Amino acid sequence: MSELNGALIGCGFFAINQMHAWNDVDGARIVAICDRDPERLKIVGDQFGIERRYSDANALFSDGGFDFVDIATTVQSHRILVEMAAQHKVPAICQKPFAKTLADAKAMVAACRAAGVPLMVHENFRWQTPIQAVRKVLDEGSIGTPFWGRFSFRSGYDVFSGQPYLAEGERFIIEDLGIHTLDIARYILGDVGSVTARTKRVNPRIKGEDVATILLDHESGATSIVDVSYATKLSKEPFPETLIEIDGSEGTIRLTQGYQLEVANASGSMTADVSPKLLSWASRPWHNIQESVYAIQQHWVDKLKQGAEHSTSGADNLKTFALVERAYESAASGQTVDVGAML
Ligand code: NAD
Repeated sequence: MSELNGALIGCGFFAINQMHAWNDVDGARIVAICDRDPERLKIVGDQFGIERRYSDANALFSDGGFDFVDIATTVQSHRILVEMAAQHKVPAICQKPFAKTLADAKAMVAACRAAGVPLMVHENFRWQTPIQAVRKVLDEGSIGTPFWGRFSFRSGYDVFSGQPYLAEGERFIIEDLGIHTLDIARYILGDVGSVTARTKRVNPRIKGEDVATILLDHESGATSIVDVSYATKLSKEPFPETLIEIDGSEGTIRLTQGYQLEVANASGSMTADVSPKLLSWASRPWHNIQESVYAIQQHWVDKLKQGAEHSTSGADNLKTFALVERAYESAASGQTVDVGAML
């Protein structure tokens, strides 16, 4: 199949990474962009040499001429834009958080399914090189059957300067960052039956919670802890690394700070450097995330051309989204909550 043409809606902070990644992706290019903010439209259009520019998504879809749409706006507009894509029979990628509520997310999946168009959530963290390396060790059977895990993201990095809206929402860390960590936990240890969570707000200048500790009961019988914090001041800032510990029947995996992977089993132990590549347009410390943006967008194109399901399809992401909703519910009630009933 020849090169796919894409349109991108939402030319904000994170879309710059997506635009750079589209330049690198094999088999697709962006031919039109849309943003309701004329300044952002001009900045991104000029930087990436895109002539077709729209301030209104309806006008973009009416003109057409593209094979897929990449929705990089914030959550408020996700449902309306995904439904617009479905109505125009255009395959869609949607940034996380997928929707404002699980009911909205289900409606978006149903709309795309009814229209017969693929829908993928831009849930890129599982595509990070170090996370893929952990998954590979497990798939090779090097540590036997995993029975316990920890997925940890603890940082004091100032995310609010680049994304000021993060300080303003009633919900913060589980919805914005923990959503990725929960997705990694599902990707590594499988789907989850129940959730117990505790949250805290340490930073007085923000509205939502900036610390969360979540206990997951996986359907496989494994137990894991997802712990996330933006209130943790360490001597060596780990942002944006997810650290992982997995114990299995035959050995252990440790993904430690500085992208070091340690595997121990009866044959001995090994350490490997699983650092992400620094792509030409990337900058530290974001390069880990930036490389995963490229990887997920390449995956989108490859699977779209094959007509195959995407790793983080809308349907798959409902299960991650349900964990977010259930974690907030558990933190509010103090109770362990069942996940299955939501899906
Ligand atoms: P942003 O506010 O900087 O950019 C959003 C842009 O979308 C703005 O320019 C805004 O004008 C435009 N927009 C909003 N609604 C629109 C509409 N209906 N039509 C046209 N344009 C519209 O936000 P951001 O920080 O770039 O975040 C965007 C999304 O990316 C968020 O959902 C955020 O959670 C997500 N994000 C993901 C990652 C990741 O690693 N996957 C990292 C950062 C942000």
